[in-house]
Amino acid sequence: MTFITRLLAGLLLLAGLNNAHADEEFPPVVMELLKVSEHVYYVQGAPGAATQNHGFISNASVVVTDEGVIVFDSLGTPALAKLLLQKLREVTDQPVKKVILSHYHADHVYGLQVFKELGAEIIAPAGAEEYINAENTATVLAERRKLLAPWVNADTHIVSPDRYVEGNEEITLGGVTLKLIFNGKAHSDGDQSVLVEPDGVLLIGDLIFEGRVPYVGDANTKVWLERLKEMEKGKLAAMVPGHGPMSKNPQEVIKTTVHYIEFLRDKMGAAVEEMTPFDEAYEATDWGDFIDMPAFAEANRTNAYQVYLSLERESMAE
Ligand SMILES: [Zn+2]
Repeated sequence: MTFITRLLAGLLLLAGLNNAHADEEFPPVVMELLKVSEHVYYVQGAPGAATQNHGFISNASVVVTDEGVIVFDSLGTPALAKLLLQKLREVTDQPVKKVILSHYHADHVYGLQVFKELGAEIIAPAGAEEYINAENTATVLAERRKLLAPWVNADTHIVSPDRYVEGNEEITLGGVTLKLIFNGKAHSDGDQSVLVEPDGVLLIGDLIFEGRVPYVGDANTKVWLERLKEMEKGKLAAMVPGHGPMSKNPQEVIKTTVHYIEFLRDKMGAAVEEMTPFDEAYEATDWGDFIDMPAFAEANRTNAYQVYLSLERESMAE
């Protein structure tokens, strides 16, 4: 072994030791920063429940420009946000200037404090304040401190945005224009998407769960459906959803989610109109189009019930 190869071996060993240290700082997850287009990269969480894969179950994107970086969503733990930052440093030295949130749900906002500490401006859709002020938000955080320890811990806190956006807005950084599209109360209390204009890339947030049955939760499916139908018409090169892989054929993907939500509203709407009890209506429905989709067993019945209840409310409001 020559001196040089010995030196190299020594350096590699040191690098290995550094990695061992990194393992304690970062959750043992595979996170790859994938290039979507000229300015856009994203990391893709694993499919699964909120506390699986050390909380890495949602996506985050970065828009890299010559004058700074804009982050879209901040992942489900501060440790994951730090790991994202480390990956970002492999492609650019530019500072993170802004973080735009698709919406406030734990799996998208627990990493915010990392970017806040760096001085980034935090921008959220109007409606997010309902999440921030909700009693349940503190309960979920307390639970996640146990279930996602040590990655969510006593130091983890909900960061309020520096400003709320209601309506559509344009942000230009380093010559790259981002169009903020306000979706209102669709998937959550307040949702927004971002179109990275020169790239034709839509960061749609949780209006799309690609490759699985979406979480309808407390959604307003009427508004959600309207927003998706508007987006289906747009000319897009690619779309990054809130969960699941990005798509180079966004219109197809949007169509699938539109079909699911329309189907739920159609079947449950007919049941509400005929005053058929939920259980009976659910059993009588042919779920064949969706039964093989991941998360069907976990989510479909709850989604259907939620839509049934909300359509009852809609019919009473008429
Ligand atoms: Zn969500």
